[in-house]
Amino acid sequence: MVVGVLVEIANKNVDKIFDYVVPKELEEKVKVGVRVKVPFGHMELIGFILDIKNNSDEKDLKEVIEVLDKEVILNKELLELGKVMHKELLCTLISCYQAMLPKGYKASRKTKVNAKVNTYVKLDNYTSIKLNDSQAKIVDYLEKNNNVLKSDVNKISKSSVDTLIKKGVLATYEKEVYRLEDNGIFDGKKYELTSDQKHVVDEVINSNNNTYLLHGVTGSGKTEVYMEIIDYYLKQDKSAIVLVPEISLTPQMVNRFKSRFGSDIAVLHSALSDGEKYDEYRKIARGEVDIVIGARSAIFAPLKNIGVIVIDEEHTSSYKQDNNPKYNAIDIAIKRSKYHDAKVILGSATPRLEEYARSKKGVYHLLELPNRINKKALPKVEIIDMNEAIKKSKNGFSIELIDEINKTLDRDEQVILLLNRRGYSSFITCSSCGYVEKCPNCDISLTYHKTSNMLRCHYCGYATKLNNTCPNCKEESMKQLGTGTQKIEEVIEKLFSKAKVVRMDFDTTSRKGAHARIIEDFKSKKYNILLGTQMIAKGLDFDNVTLVGVINADTSLNIPDFRSSEVTFELLDQVAGRSGRGKKIGKVIIQTFNKEHYAIKYAKEHDYLGFYNTEMMIRRELSYPPYYYLTYLKVISKDYETARNEATNIGNLLKKKLNNSIILGPSVCNVFKVNNTYRFGIIIKYKKEDNLYETLESIDEHYKSNAKVKIDIDFNPNSL
Ligand code: ADP
Ligand code: ZN
Repeated sequence: MVVGVLVEIANKNVDKIFDYVVPKELEEKVKVGVRVKVPFGHMELIGFILDIKNNSDEKDLKEVIEVLDKEVILNKELLELGKVMHKELLCTLISCYQAMLPKGYKASRKTKVNAKVNTYVKLDNYTSIKLNDSQAKIVDYLEKNNNVLKSDVNKISKSSVDTLIKKGVLATYEKEVYRLEDNGIFDGKKYELTSDQKHVVDEVINSNNNTYLLHGVTGSGKTEVYMEIIDYYLKQDKSAIVLVPEISLTPQMVNRFKSRFGSDIAVLHSALSDGEKYDEYRKIARGEVDIVIGARSAIFAPLKNIGVIVIDEEHTSSYKQDNNPKYNAIDIAIKRSKYHDAKVILGSATPRLEEYARSKKGVYHLLELPNRINKKALPKVEIIDMNEAIKKSKNGFSIELIDEINKTLDRDEQVILLLNRRGYSSFITCSSCGYVEKCPNCDISLTYHKTSNMLRCHYCGYATKLNNTCPNCKEESMKQLGTGTQKIEEVIEKLFSKAKVVRMDFDTTSRKGAHARIIEDFKSKKYNILLGTQMIAKGLDFDNVTLVGVINADTSLNIPDFRSSEVTFELLDQVAGRSGRGKKIGKVIIQTFNKEHYAIKYAKEHDYLGFYNTEMMIRRELSYPPYYYLTYLKVISKDYETARNEATNIGNLLKKKLNNSIILGPSVCNVFKVNNTYRFGIIIKYKKEDNLYETLESIDEHYKSNAKVKIDIDFNPNSL
């Protein structure tokens, strides 16, 4: 017997299947989709068995050393899916399989995660024996209790336990256990759906489409709709995957599902330990659960017979993986849904432009929930023009915002303050008027390069020297912005000395469980003010929050990216949606230097469609998505000249081969130097380009064996 094995090694040249002989004693254990240990050169590597055959064309085959899994960890569907990803994304096959699995199941020599096994004792045969006191106590305990851990009765007397085992009175047995424990507070209610909600549910269940876009304002009851639809498919003996942004995976959210569907739900996200993830994955692979809730990679959950895949907050950028394989969970969902004949539901209050455009074209089926539950009003949004307000402001807080915070605190209600740190500090802004210099060719912010003191456009390569005088207000005040959350926290503590403030940002949430704890504490009113970065904008449901303040709306407007307006509108609309979710009416205050900007104006009116229409016009004008597809090709080298020259060569080749595309660059990448490697980027824009794939594949192939230059290709990138 021979098996074809794909080994774990980070080298594009080794990304192929090697044959190994299976020793007689392992033949029983060998299955397609399990991991094996095999010799490779003078190393031992781990790999996946991809096929089993009688013999091989290759000579001098080596032998499989060990079979590592009892159960198949990559089933047929996933093995095929990996092959498709490998082809479409131009990345290694092994990287595709690795991306599907939690650490403990990856093919890896370094990490070893095992199942947790507990030893239990039970009564076996104690008819003919006289017991001493502690022995009697143990037997008595076992008569009254089931599933008794050996370590528990050991506490009575370890030596007695051992004696009883030796005499056959007690028997031990082992059982695998799962590490992740339920916290057991399932307090959710099941609501009678509103007629709007019912309509959406019926539409999904009864119509014959594959992918649905559910556009529902914040608080419109989307989650209830998901649950109702899932319920329907579970009753048809089907299963469901629910993707939510990493940050929304709080106990709150999971509890809502558990209280409706019981605890047979697997949860997959980055805050779990490797052991917990390993266990959750095994539950799924064994078919013990039929709902999986998780972040991006949960889209690969090995469920059988999937009925529905829900992607909540579908506009979230982290659904697209930034490193290889650069897959988008939405694409994977659609692929899997076709295999299973399942439905995909994309939900958002602020759908990504591409997705909304697709639903307008009928590629997706559009569903809408235009009102909050019980027709509750969306919060009123007030815009503070910081060009004026800055004169009387205190450390970045306008008088208006300070007043409103005080009033809210006096009413014993809570405040959320957003410090927008997206796109932070890579651009230069005027500290007195907020002016940001943009590229005359591409209408995106110029990026500051400290070493050369230049401002550059990383789309087209335009460059200009940094001038400290603001071209707009003529003040000598062009500089890098620099206010961190920590500093703002101190300011708040001074301005509102009675208030208790909790800060939520990358620093305060890096410890396991910290994120969930902050949310629980804020919900239980231990704090009056929650200050945070964009991580507080999504999904949170606090009914006592009646004021949301945005300290600086503008930073994200200035990200050097064509999506900056979209990202800003989305952030403002989402964070505004945190206000007034309970019985009381909410309010939102947005401080900005750009009160005339359409992203700010439409956010004020909660007008997604208005924003969509304006933004679409701009996208069309500048040939950006959804009117054009983008592919971003990066050329990376430790040597600056090499990177630049090869990028120029590739750029020329692309211009020659791709006659239906617009080729921009090469230009230095946004992050130009990483780890002493230099990066040049080429942007390819196209509506339909038949030669694209073939050309990129040949470039990729050509550089595979070049040790000096690396090519990185990103189809439909999140950012450039
Ligand atoms: P979304 O996901 O659209 O933001 P949710 O599903 O979280 O909205 O619903 C918002 C709030 O309304 C939640 O507190 C939820 O429990 C409540 N809710 C949802 N559906 C109903 C309903 N049919 N009747 C009463 N309350 C509901
Ligand atoms: Zn430019």
